[in-house]
Amino acid sequence: MSRHAILCRFGEIFLKKGNRPAFVKRLVDNMRDAVAPLGARVERGHGRILVWLPDAAASGLESSDPEPALAALSRVFGLTSLSPVRVVERDLGAITQAALAETRAAIAAWPGKNPPSFKVEARRADKRFLPASPELARQVGGAVFQATGLRVDVHEPDLVVGIEVGYEHAFVYARVIAAPGGLPVGATGKADLLLSGGIDSPVAGWMAMKRGCHLAATYFHSFPYTGDRTKEKVRGLASLLSRWQGGIELRVVPFTAAQKALRDAGEPRLAVVLYRRMMMRVATRLAKERGALALVTGEALAQVASQTLENLTAIEAAAGLLVLRPLIAHDKVETVALARRIGTYDRSIEPYEDACSMFVPEHPEIRARLADVEAVEQRVDIAALAEECVRGTERILCKPTE
Ligand code: ATP
Ligand code: MG
Repeated sequence: MSRHAILCRFGEIFLKKGNRPAFVKRLVDNMRDAVAPLGARVERGHGRILVWLPDAAASGLESSDPEPALAALSRVFGLTSLSPVRVVERDLGAITQAALAETRAAIAAWPGKNPPSFKVEARRADKRFLPASPELARQVGGAVFQATGLRVDVHEPDLVVGIEVGYEHAFVYARVIAAPGGLPVGATGKADLLLSGGIDSPVAGWMAMKRGCHLAATYFHSFPYTGDRTKEKVRGLASLLSRWQGGIELRVVPFTAAQKALRDAGEPRLAVVLYRRMMMRVATRLAKERGALALVTGEALAQVASQTLENLTAIEAAAGLLVLRPLIAHDKVETVALARRIGTYDRSIEPYEDACSMFVPEHPEIRARLADVEAVEQRVDIAALAEECVRGTERILCKPTE
């Protein structure tokens, strides 16, 4: 009798010696959150984490379908790869039977015209188990060859049949699925994303999550110049991002009054820098409310006029927290490719009203000087405008929808 589970591998957190137990605990917690709705159970063991699929017999199924759990786990940062496994007794006969069953399933699903070449790889966490790994692989490989006639290729096999012997069970698999790597969300702290409806900021947020940041998102809404369709779009993007985190709080900040006041402050060339500085101030306050240690933006060096070194300097000076810009060195094509990969691109390119025509000058300054910017800010009541933004903020919990 074999049972079905998913063997989950993790990598980089090994490097963080002192933090390792806390990181692994965070990873396991995040995995539990991801698979709990599927009725799967998470268990730690032999340098791997095991996800037990719901009992097929109890649900009246022939075998447990691993696909929903694989999909959920492929969005848990910190995991490096996944294998659906047969879990059997630590016994050569049982391991061989499972290897045969896995190989036959792989042949049945093999996409190529020719049958795959194969090899068996074995690894023992419990070194007391005998035969030792090379001999175990050789014996099981021999049995698979006898039964299937598949060609053995130890150098470049099409198919690797894997065996892992743990302390309580042995695991046999023939599929290895990539997981996203990175660090478990929350392991490095909290960071707040400035999320617009564009292509870049969702990707920047994803990259921060990948490095272990737990995200909340802040969107500056200039109603009615940007309409509710745009707000829905941003909400949709936050929901897409939440698939890697299990829920993201989106703050919608009413920005029209501040934006008008800054636009009318008499220095149209500096308007965009002034808006961005106001965003930084408000985002900092909202971030500090929940103990976030950084802001995240989708800015890339010199992509648009507001993103020159001079302007970024002037913008950053208004932030009261570290500003992370994961895309700083990206070409647009790289960001677009990543946006497609993580599934935000199609939503990002949906048409929407942009407040730009209303609020962005024809000839924006590309070398703003902080002293000039601060002089313009003297003409308006910055603190009151920021306060109004914070007070009017709407909070929406965005959950994964797809
Ligand atoms: P994006 O595709 O993310 O909108 P972009 O290349 O269009 O980026 P800008 O529009 O100049 O560049 O914005 C730079 C960054 O400032 C964005 O990536 C985002 O982090 C932040 N930002 C801009 N507008 C808003 C907004 N309305 N609400 C929240 N953040 C914003
Ligand atoms: Mg934009």
